[in-house]
Amino acid sequence: MGSKKTFVSLEQIKDIVKTYPTPFHLYDEKGIRENAAKLKQAFSWNKGYREYFAVKATPNPFIINILRDYGCGLDCSSLTELMMANALECKPEEIMFSSNDTPAEEYEYALKIGATINLDDITHIEFLENIAGGKLPETMSCRFNPGGYFKMGTDIMDNPGDAKYGMTHEKIIEAFKILKSKGVKHFGIHSFLASNTVSNDYYPTLAKILFELAVELKEKTGVSIEFINLSGGVGVAYKPEQTPNDILVIGEGVHKVFDEVLVPAGLGDVAIFTELGRFMLAPYGCLVSQAIHEKHTHKEYIGLDACAVNLMRPAMYGAYHHITVAGKEDAVCDHTYDVTGSLCENNDKFAIDRKLPKIDMGDYLIIHDTGAHGFAMGYQYNGKLRSSELLLKEDGSVEMIRRAETPKDYFQTFDFCDFYKKVLN
Ligand SMILES: *Cc1c(COP(=O)(O)O)cnc(C)c1O
Repeated sequence: MGSKKTFVSLEQIKDIVKTYPTPFHLYDEKGIRENAAKLKQAFSWNKGYREYFAVKATPNPFIINILRDYGCGLDCSSLTELMMANALECKPEEIMFSSNDTPAEEYEYALKIGATINLDDITHIEFLENIAGGKLPETMSCRFNPGGYFKMGTDIMDNPGDAKYGMTHEKIIEAFKILKSKGVKHFGIHSFLASNTVSNDYYPTLAKILFELAVELKEKTGVSIEFINLSGGVGVAYKPEQTPNDILVIGEGVHKVFDEVLVPAGLGDVAIFTELGRFMLAPYGCLVSQAIHEKHTHKEYIGLDACAVNLMRPAMYGAYHHITVAGKEDAVCDHTYDVTGSLCENNDKFAIDRKLPKIDMGDYLIIHDTGAHGFAMGYQYNGKLRSSELLLKEDGSVEMIRRAETPKDYFQTFDFCDFYKKVLN
């Protein structure tokens, strides 16, 4: 079994908690920068390449600004994410809007700031046209869903046939004909077929599907696809026994298919886009929490000061997140625990039957790989509040990049009535 290392030590945690109480999400600037640089290198063979960071994974402007140093744009899926891109002064070409079931006001805002709109369905052409006063933007993208099962070799990776996103093969061809007839000039295609893939073959396999579609669209509709968006889905090794993806191998794999399919079809100028979220950040964030209770009943329980509102993935999908007890990195894992939060929900468990070293009250537990889809999925059930987010900088110092919520934040939406004044008294 492989091992998973933390980027923060017990000494550092003891220092941080003097200023910022647990629980908190901590991000590793050095790791984020090294990974972003490597992604850029992996696709440097493609002239127009751009990563549009999937904002929903970690919607924090401080983190996003680090990624922007590496040329990353933003992939937005909602009004507030578009507002964030606008406030960060992204240029129009740096903003992708890959939404679905999109409300009119979100399209309106996307049009206003000039984001590239990636249509989820053929019916959205008319919907958007009405909002845009009859004139579509010059650049448009469409999302493809081939249906069926997405297989690599004999392994089923995911089930696009059961996914709500994207257009069928027939509809996407029709959509491009319509867009062309309505004066759209620049075209792109997009697809997201499998999530959290731990395989260097996912992107190349998806690329082949999209590249062949681009060639077919050129033949059947006369539109020239200028960008192909491989979207997200490149995963991370949450479990110690998994081998992490090698982004340089993935980039070369896409390059090979590009040379085989697009170049001979005269489409060698096509720009490759990605919309990675998890791969950009998950390993470079962790949730630091303190053990505050132990219970010896039908099982052995360790209760933390964090709960599922701080990290929902285990409760929501039974997702595995590795746990390290700070300062006990080399101790034998000879105890079996359920590690729980405090919600009145029995699925509020960060780990079930997990082998860990003996945990003492006051120990700090580091829950790994929470840098993406971690804090972001937080909620306020049971009246619990979201934690702070902290950045461990390259020089070892720590910067608060989001404060923890307070009861005032929780009650804010009652600020129109007397109750608000009473409850905060
Ligand atoms: C969620 C999402 C992403 C990012 O997915 P990851 O698995 O985090 O890489 C990218 N594009 C779209 C449209 C998404 O919905």
